[in-house]
Amino acid sequence: MEITEIQVEGYEKVARCRDQESGLHALIAIHNTALGPALGGMRMWPYASEDEALFDVLRLSKGMTYKSAVAETGLGGGKSVIIGDPKKHKSEALFRAMGRFVDSLEGRYITAEDMNIGIPDLEIVRQETKWVTGLRREEGSSGNPSPYTAQGCLIGMRAVMEEISGSKDFTGSHVVVQGVGAVGGALAILLKEAGAKVTICDINEDRVRELAEQHGFGVTTDADHLSIECDIYAPCARGAGINDETIPKLKCKAVAGCANNQLLEPRHAEALRERGIVYAPDYVLNAGGIINVSVELLPGGYDEAVAMERIGRIYDNLKLVFEISREQGIPTNEAAEHLAEQRLEEAAKRNA
Ligand code: NAD
Repeated sequence: MEITEIQVEGYEKVARCRDQESGLHALIAIHNTALGPALGGMRMWPYASEDEALFDVLRLSKGMTYKSAVAETGLGGGKSVIIGDPKKHKSEALFRAMGRFVDSLEGRYITAEDMNIGIPDLEIVRQETKWVTGLRREEGSSGNPSPYTAQGCLIGMRAVMEEISGSKDFTGSHVVVQGVGAVGGALAILLKEAGAKVTICDINEDRVRELAEQHGFGVTTDADHLSIECDIYAPCARGAGINDETIPKLKCKAVAGCANNQLLEPRHAEALRERGIVYAPDYVLNAGGIINVSVELLPGGYDEAVAMERIGRIYDNLKLVFEISREQGIPTNEAAEHLAEQRLEEAAKRNA
């Protein structure tokens, strides 16, 4: 196994691992550990080149620094990527080698699930390193993060409701949820329980039918969902859905959902602002999962009550973001960045 370092400005450490025996070709990026060890998921993707993988791991690890800084998880930002086809190249030897790679960083990077990596893969990684989170609850870990992401979204959406209506009460409001998978489905149920009228859409028609029958949701199609008049539009499927083409169609007062990277480009937050639409920055709103995972690393180990108390702070963080946005006349994505940078600077001063 050969581990080499790649020098990248602005990053604490970027490492490459090549292992002939298992075929592992992977990168780990530690962006910033001013607030604590760098936690971020492990992704497996058939990248066309190492450069493409490097671009992804750098972007994602930096995103984790900002997400954790705003969420105050006491963690820094990192990420790992395995270059390979998840359908063809997964093996015990590969994940064991990846475990040794993670272990070589001695806890400065802590891994978790991400795209194409599930609990069975991480259980193999765990045999080589203790720096793994998000395993099964029965094993003392924090388990599936999705229900906590959904809870955090609901809590954050109360700050959004206050912003658009002056009240955090959902009674009589209308929310359109695009994508009713692990998080969006749970969020739709929570919103309905909180008194909102909920309309759902998903490319999985069976899932939509089943949920609508069980919970009395309204149903729309993916083609029509953007132009439905509503209070909150909640993108909970894929990223990049907020763009030049979709923004003019929106008839909502706010965009607030769990999907990662909702804005195609940062400038689309300003475009929403110009239309008078409140935007809840995705990584502030969807931090419930990472907050839940971070509780595993506390001295007493995982405790759901502690996790829920911390997830409750998503509301306060969004209030702060909206306040900074208003005071400085900047879009909310920039306000969230300011908040993250402010927390990082404070930590850097404390650590100096
Ligand atoms: P998921 O795969 O369980 O659900 C996604 C759903 O979106 C699926 O039902 C899928 O059919 C649907 N979908 C895909 N493309 C669609 C489209 N064009 N139109 C309508 N529906 C579409 O995923 P998830 O875990 O619920 O995550 C959803 C989003 O939230 C992702 O962007 C993810 O990165 C983000 N996120 C998830 C978590 C978590 O804890 N799971 C945490 C933070 C962010």
